[in-house]
Amino acid sequence: MAQKVQGTEDLFGGYMRAWQRMQDVARELFGSYGFDMIETPAIEQVDTFVHGIGESTDVVRKEMFRVFSGALLPDVLERGSEGHLKPRQRMAMRPEGTAGVVRAAVENNFVPQGAAPAKLWYAEAMFRGERPQKGRLRQFHQVGVEWLGASDPAADAECIIMLMEYFCRLGFSRESLRLTINSMGDAACRPAYRDKVRAFILDHAEEMCEDCLERAQINPLRAFDCKNDHCREVMADAPLAPDNLCDECAAHYAAVKRYLDAAGVSYVEDPTLVRGLDYYTRTVFEVEVVGAGVGAIGGGGRYDGLVELEGGKPTPGLGFAVGFERICLALAEQGVDLGGEEPSCVYVACTPGEDTRAAAFETCLALRSAGVRTEADYQGRSLKAQFKQADKLGARLCAIIGSDELAAGVVTLRDMVSHEQVQVPAAELAERVTARLA
Ligand code: AMP
Repeated sequence: MAQKVQGTEDLFGGYMRAWQRMQDVARELFGSYGFDMIETPAIEQVDTFVHGIGESTDVVRKEMFRVFSGALLPDVLERGSEGHLKPRQRMAMRPEGTAGVVRAAVENNFVPQGAAPAKLWYAEAMFRGERPQKGRLRQFHQVGVEWLGASDPAADAECIIMLMEYFCRLGFSRESLRLTINSMGDAACRPAYRDKVRAFILDHAEEMCEDCLERAQINPLRAFDCKNDHCREVMADAPLAPDNLCDECAAHYAAVKRYLDAAGVSYVEDPTLVRGLDYYTRTVFEVEVVGAGVGAIGGGGRYDGLVELEGGKPTPGLGFAVGFERICLALAEQGVDLGGEEPSCVYVACTPGEDTRAAAFETCLALRSAGVRTEADYQGRSLKAQFKQADKLGARLCAIIGSDELAAGVVTLRDMVSHEQVQVPAAELAERVTARLA
């Protein structure tokens, strides 16, 4: 039997409804903030991710799924690397959404000089070659937003407020959510801070793991995220980003907090919060569900240098992404089923006979044109078996057509819960059904 790829999942039934609900809630809420939906290709040139996410990140170094056409693959395998390919021939599945959206914004000039900001949201599958485990997949789904052209700290605050509102509308209780924020500085102050952290790690080299020593060279701030408890203990004494901000970054961070306070959004400042992707500047944030044990369910931040890295003009930007699978796991722990119940339907049953079957066929069409989810029998079942199937499908009502009904121009409408039956004129069925379902 063919099997799915490790770390991937099929979305169907309640799980699929949950994914659709996440999109519906996003469309409504993000729409009220002025965001429009975008879909970028699942494959991009590798350079889009290398420039955007950063060469030193785990995502780019270890987790990207490369894509080669059948014509190129033998050549790549033979030479042992893709180094000889032209940039446009080097492709990868998107590991996150921001780089692709920013690439699209640059290519389509979404934010010309003097224009209003571009506000975009997406709901897409992402691909990362991580070791599959609970809440960690190789193909997972994210809903995210990108807001390009806004430098105002009010935008950072609105982004965070919108994110927290999104979680609440999905069904999380606000008390269960832990929002952490930090500022990572910008091109003016971060290089010096990064050097300080590097020097700190090298001063404590004997106490740190191999990975952290490697991080010291390429991305020292990632040492704050080390899984090794001892490294984290050592890093507790490392210089902290908020103490090393330039005046502009400090003022920006203070303003973001003022706006959050004014909106009554509670948060925890975590001066060691560094996000895994290189492009973040200034504000970063993450949301966890206390006690759910699934890791962060969403996070994001400001990335003022990213548009330039993707070849555009200097344009500030910010955004966030939330993970569908982890949200479902965390909601399930709170007893919330995001997929909800299967939508109810009306079942059209008929006694055997060409005339009754033809009338059932027409009745189905009429109900569907009235927007009613309608089911019928397509396997020649007995009336009793049709009722059984109607129950299985969770039908609220059953429209029954026998030769008596046909002769009288009526349909028997049976309430599947109370088992109460009434006869209604065939011509009024759709109207009566809609009223009953409402
Ligand atoms: P990131 O792009 O790494 O900041 O991730 C944003 C969100 O996507 C996280 O908070 C998770 O909810 C989700 N996420 C990231 N990686 C995975 C993965 N491998 N499997 C499932 N969800 C993930």
